[in-house]
Amino acid sequence: MRQPHALHEAKPLSLPAAMASSSDTPQKPSRDSEFYFPDGVMVFQVVSADNPIGILFRLHPTMLKPSKFLSALFELAQYSATIKNAAEKFLIEGALDSQPILMPLPDNLVMADFRNLLKWIYQPSLWRHQDLSFWVSVLKLSTFLAIDDGINAVVEEFQRRIVNAQAVTLVPKMATANAETTLDTTKEVPSAVLRYHLSLHYHVDAWFIPAFMELLDTDITTLTQQEIYSIGFDSYILLTQAQAKIQKIRRSAVFDVPPLPSSAVSGCLTPGSCYVHWTAFWSNWVRQMVHHPDQPAKMAKMLVDMDTGGVKGVCEQCKAGILGLPKFRELFGKEEQAESAIKLQLIAFNRPSVDIFEPVVEGN
Ligand SMILES: [Zn+2]
Repeated sequence: MRQPHALHEAKPLSLPAAMASSSDTPQKPSRDSEFYFPDGVMVFQVVSADNPIGILFRLHPTMLKPSKFLSALFELAQYSATIKNAAEKFLIEGALDSQPILMPLPDNLVMADFRNLLKWIYQPSLWRHQDLSFWVSVLKLSTFLAIDDGINAVVEEFQRRIVNAQAVTLVPKMATANAETTLDTTKEVPSAVLRYHLSLHYHVDAWFIPAFMELLDTDITTLTQQEIYSIGFDSYILLTQAQAKIQKIRRSAVFDVPPLPSSAVSGCLTPGSCYVHWTAFWSNWVRQMVHHPDQPAKMAKMLVDMDTGGVKGVCEQCKAGILGLPKFRELFGKEEQAESAIKLQLIAFNRPSVDIFEPVVEGN
């Protein structure tokens, strides 16, 4: 069945022919309708995969300050203003439409991403109403142009949305409708998958380990194929292995009922009752919390609950005896220990390199 495929492939041949007529005279980039400021100082010709001819942006120097690269370029333009020789000034890049600073965007960025960055720079009053894709653009461009403030703003905004979403779920049902409108207008919350994906490709350290640990606590069988692609196969393998390992540790930790220590039982006034209640507590609470299908409890948290709360039907002497055993505490610390090992593995994880803008200095 190769034939229909070949026919289908032949179709796009008409495209370059149609373009040929217009490319006889080289196409000039047009000025952006929103971000070409007549009183701007530097002209950029931004070229992207979705816009190979490019768009001209004329920007203000004060607005370019957050970017280390753009402000360095601006200093170069300022220097050009001090040059007396008009002919030489003419040659300085960025001063005129005919001499723009060429900024080719990497393949993962489109023109809309660049415009979103300018919206972030020029229109801070609109930040709160932007969707997640806007913030993803800001992150990508801020990484590309070394804008630390931009990266920090995205981290802050994501954190704000997560906290907001948690606050909405914590508010009693009666007040929910009201709370949603007063707390936030945006409902889009960055998922652990998105944060992990972005931290992997744009090296946002604030998200990398926390997002992975969050995925570790979720039911990964519910991840879609798209989400698995998004976190990457290496990470997915690490995730499935880590989750299986932790599940095994949890299951084996609670399999046997640890016997109450003889030292405690020898001084106990109700040894028979304590034994029965301890065994029942183990099956009805400890095992159920560990094996809970929807909300399994962390073992370290369970130990704290046992320390602070009582163990139903077990006398204080027996309770203190068992909870004080180093072996017992070790048992409930195993999960956390395994998680620490996973975090170390993540620190060593080889993240892909990022594209950074490097202006090409031509001539001379
Ligand atoms: Zn007892």
